[in-house]
Formats: sequence, C-alpha cells, structure tokens
Amino acid sequence: MSGLPKPIGIPQTILDDVYAHARDAFPAEACGWLEGPKNGADVTHAHPCENVQSQGTHPTVAGRGEERAYIFSAADVIAFNEGIDTDEPPRIIYHSHPNGRAYFSDTDTNVATNQWDGGKMYPVQQLVVGIDATRVVGAVLFDWSDDAQGFVEIQRFQGKVPFLGK
Ligand SMILES: [Zn+2]
Repeated sequence: MSGLPKPIGIPQTILDDVYAHARDAFPAEACGWLEGPKNGADVTHAHPCENVQSQGTHPTVAGRGEERAYIFSAADVIAFNEGIDTDEPPRIIYHSHPNGRAYFSDTDTNVATNQWDGGKMYPVQQLVVGIDATRVVGAVLFDWSDDAQGFVEIQRFQGKVPFLGK
C-alpha cells in the first residue's frame, strides 16, 4: 500500500453530518467541504454548500442527464478560497451521487484536475457519497496519485440505513 496518499481522518459524527446533508438534498446532489486544522490528522467540521446545479440555473450544464455536476454557489466559492489560507482550511470536498454509486466519475475528475499541468486543482481530498431512495449506500475518499496520474481510492466508508439508529 505504499505510495498511496494518506487519508485525512473523518470522525463518525462528521460523516453523519455529510450523510444527513446527502439525504436532505436527495434526489439532487449535495456538495460541501470538511475543514480542520492545517496539517492536522482529522477534519473537525462540515461546511455544507448550496448546490447551484441542483437548481438548474447553470447555463452550461442544466438539463444534463444522470451524470450531474455539483457547482458551489459564488458565495461558497469565495468562502472556500478565503479558507484555504487560514489555520482551519477546507481539507476534503464532498458530494453525493443520487444513483447510489460512490465512484469518481469523469466529470468529477475534470472538475478536480488542474487542466493546465495535471495534479489537483485544489489542495484537498475528495469524498463521494453514494445514496439512493432508501439508504446511504457508502462513501469513498479519493486523492490524487502521482504514480497513477489520476485520482485513486484511499479509504472506503460504510453507508447507513435510515431509521435504524446511529
Ligand atoms: Zn460526482
């Protein structure tokens, strides 16, 4: 397993916040980020965003099919960029896939990759939550791998069936 990026820790309570957001947003995609101390082992809280794409207001991607994009609102983009230079920066971007599958799609890769010289567009890891009408199926954390020249799976999380307690 050497060579794989080290996963940033996501405490269960934070993961529960992300799952709750994904459930609230369903059948639209939820998106946001997780913040924590710079260079710390774990994230410490979730920053849910408004997914502008889910409102169908974005001219270039509105009306797309199953593989939808998530788009932060302008205010969230500003907050994200301002946060990067603080002591508690965004460390993981998350979004959900309402088709129930937690994978890093071609769309996700395009959004997260620096199109000029490769590598990550932002200094964060990427969490994708698979959710369907009945449950959170699971979540997978991805990060850029120089070896693979792409995003690779670095950690997998169990999903959650609603109404059965924590
Ligand atoms: Zn996606």
